Parts: sequence; C-alpha cells; structure tokens
Amino acid sequence: MFDSHVHSNFSPDSKASMKEVLDKSIEKGLQSICFTDHYDLDYDGKNNDLTFDIQAYFKKIDSLRDQYQDRIEVRAGIELGLQPHLGQRYYTLFKDLPFDFILASVHSVDREDFFQGNFFDTRNQQQAYEDYFTELKQSITTYDHFQALGHTDVIKRYGGYAKPLPYTFYREILREILRLLIEKGKGIELNTSGLRYGLEAFHPSTEILRDYFELGGEILTLGSDSHQSTGTGAYFPEALKLLKSLGFTSYSSFKNQQPIFHRID
Ligand SMILES: [Zn+2]
Ligand SMILES: [Zn+2]
Repeated sequence: MFDSHVHSNFSPDSKASMKEVLDKSIEKGLQSICFTDHYDLDYDGKNNDLTFDIQAYFKKIDSLRDQYQDRIEVRAGIELGLQPHLGQRYYTLFKDLPFDFILASVHSVDREDFFQGNFFDTRNQQQAYEDYFTELKQSITTYDHFQALGHTDVIKRYGGYAKPLPYTFYREILREILRLLIEKGKGIELNTSGLRYGLEAFHPSTEILRDYFELGGEILTLGSDSHQSTGTGAYFPEALKLLKSLGFTSYSSFKNQQPIFHRID
C-alpha cells in the first residue's frame, strides 16, 4: 500500500525521524511512503511561517531513497498550507523543485489558524464552516500547482463543538469544490486521521466521497497524516473497503507529480 501523507521531524509538530518512519512502515508491509511535511506561510497573521529547509529535505530523502531502495519506495512530497494570497509565493518557491507530490491543505482562513488561533472566537459554527469552504474554493480557483486537496472537511475536527454540522449545510459549496477539482484534473485524499482524532469518520466523510464518485472523481490518494513513526498506513484496510463499497476500483499515488493508479482488490 502507498501512504501519500506522512510527516517527519521536518514538521514542527512531529518528532519522528524519517528513518524511524521508514523502518516501522517496512514492518507494516507498506510499499511506498511519501513524506509531506508542513509548509505554511503566514498562517497566523503575526508574520510567522511554518517552514523547513527544502535543500536539507531533498538531501535527506535522496540519501534514504538510496539506502532503502530494496525495501520501500521513498517519495518527496510537501503539504502546503494554502490561502488565497499565498498562491504566487508558493508557485515561485516550488515550480522548479522535483517534488513527487504537492498536497494542498487549508489550515488557516484569513491568517487565523484553526489549531491555536482565534478563528473560532469570532464565528459561530455555521459561519466557521462557511468561511472555511468559501476560502478553500477561492484558493483552488486561483492556485494550480498541486495534485490533491488535503483533508477536505477538516474544519469538523476543530472548534470544540459537540457535533459537526450535518452535510446538508455545506453540500452545495462542497460539490462546487469537487467539480472544480475534477475539471482541473486534481484529486482529493482520503485521510484516515479522522478516526485518530476521535471523529467517527475519515476526512472527507463517506457522503462526500459518494458525491465525488458520482461527479466522476477518479483521483483519490490515501494518507494516514501520521505524525509518529508508528502511524503510517493506519486504517488503510478499512479505507479501501469503504472505497470499494462506494464503487471506486482504484486509488492513486503520485510520482513526479503524475498519478499512478493502484487497483483495489
Ligand atoms: Zn493538514
Ligand atoms: Zn498533514
């Protein structure tokens, strides 16, 4: 199996070395790991960036790729924190770099981040969802240099509400986002970390995956969003079973920013 969303200690919120991640992933029988460490510019409106040394990153991945070539395939990806005003900067930074996979995720809206910022202080639940999906749509309308959208409905995870809003509240805009992605030849990911965070579903939820299938979406990467060496491939058998039950016959991973389709047996 191919895990396309894995963090290492190049991300500030992970302590796992790439080597530990690879060793554990081999034990689990994974065929390929794509490291996608965080790169979030201007995420909190206080001139803070969450970045890493790109040159050191490629150097490390290249050496591990050689070292592990007979045991597991190592790919170089990145998880961008997308906001509408950052597209041009990301394009300039990354257009010539040999990433296998660029995963675009939204972690902040209007320079207020969900995790520790005050995004939820000034919005009720409905407003929070509305602002998140509106900005997400704007970001992917104006930015092209990525292959898949990360954890589409991640807003459900944050804000401390008792329950997520029902899908009917945001289905219309979400379907517009899915249509736009399909038109542009981009995919979404099935991110299995929702279960780890205590939600009852993956990101995105089953009803969104169903809509994606119905709209003709074919590119779907599988990612654990693991931040620990032991977390790769988590819930993949369950995820594949779900995809199969919805009608998907394959999932995808990316190499040189081109999709590879893996049959679901
Ligand atoms: Zn993320
Ligand atoms: Zn992530």
